[in-house]
Amino acid sequence: MPEKMIEFIREELESIRSAGLYKDERTLLSPQQVRLHTDDGEALNFCANNYLGLANHPEILQEAKNALDRYGYGMASVRFICGTQQVHKNLEEQVAKFLETEDTILYSSCFDANAGLFETLLDSDDAVISDRLNHASIIDGVRLCKAQRFRFNHADMGHLETQLKRAEKCRFRIIATDGVFSMDGDVAPLDEICDLAERYDAMVMVDDSHATGFFGPRGRGSLDYKNVLGRVDIITSTFGKALGGASGGFTSGKKEIVALLRQRSRPYLFSNSLSPVIAAATLKAIELITESPHLLEKLRENVAWFREKIQQAGYEIRPGDHPIIPIMLGDARLAHDMANQLLAEGVYVIGFSYPVVPKDQARIRIQISAAHEKQDLDRAVQAFKTVGQRLNVLKS
Ligand SMILES: *Cc1c(COP(=O)(O)O)cnc(C)c1O
Repeated sequence: MPEKMIEFIREELESIRSAGLYKDERTLLSPQQVRLHTDDGEALNFCANNYLGLANHPEILQEAKNALDRYGYGMASVRFICGTQQVHKNLEEQVAKFLETEDTILYSSCFDANAGLFETLLDSDDAVISDRLNHASIIDGVRLCKAQRFRFNHADMGHLETQLKRAEKCRFRIIATDGVFSMDGDVAPLDEICDLAERYDAMVMVDDSHATGFFGPRGRGSLDYKNVLGRVDIITSTFGKALGGASGGFTSGKKEIVALLRQRSRPYLFSNSLSPVIAAATLKAIELITESPHLLEKLRENVAWFREKIQQAGYEIRPGDHPIIPIMLGDARLAHDMANQLLAEGVYVIGFSYPVVPKDQARIRIQISAAHEKQDLDRAVQAFKTVGQRLNVLKS
């Protein structure tokens, strides 16, 4: 490797550090759960996507252990060679049933699901019309396809309509959006998006990673919340968040779309099968959610309670129902310092800064889980009050 290149990389790293943007990784000494042991001490976890607490749930663990004995550890194959077991087919069927679609195809991750979607369906005669704040995996998936690209300002329906008009001459149009935007916790206006899609003969694709399994009246996600189940053509999502948190993703929708993805989608054709252990445990997660309302109810109560108390403590938050609650701070270093001080008070949250969020919109993101108890939420609010006063970020 040329010395020049190493020098270049060192300078890049230094500039990331000096801008206060360097991301350190904390090592957990315990499983993913509310009460964490980390190499920096004990803390209550408020930054996992473990919305239902299934990542270390006894029934999920037991199912995974059973699956290990029954199906083995891994498939050592892609699906179409010798990587498909009954448990994979069952999971595809149950996801489709859960989301009220025709069929589902599994991927190693939702990132892969998005990476393999657009290229398979669209050509240079077609158009993708994307929300500006869409997840990186949608952006990359769109980059990989030859379709013409249009972007609309975040959740701006007037601007979406303008872009739909600009794309009117194209053969096919797909509107692509996150269901819930991970950095703000806001829900896409899917009802209005579906109306516009009908008017301009476009398809709708929703990545529902931050909603599948826990959001909406029956946990079916943002489509459930906005009452548009059956009106969205393509849903992608992850098993790596609420549905057990291991890994894996999927694309769900019309059976013809899923059938074509199995033939042509590159991350499906050229990447390994999901482990049967994950497939079986994810099936158990869907069963737990479907058969008992308890987890969803507890999450809803926790979210409502925390949103109310954090405002009483002097923080302004955007109204909503989602367990993602951002505390906007602006400055990257302030967000970083505040997260460190909260950790010293026993509350683990992360400061997010560029490039994960736009420059000057640094924030701390709080995530509530069904695994939190009231006393955990109470302790977090207290810590936010103490640190907020010290750093002078509370509303006067
Ligand atoms: C987390 C997330 C992903 C990535 O999911 P993986 O299964 O971890 O690859 C994709 N899209 C959105 C919107 C996400 O929030």
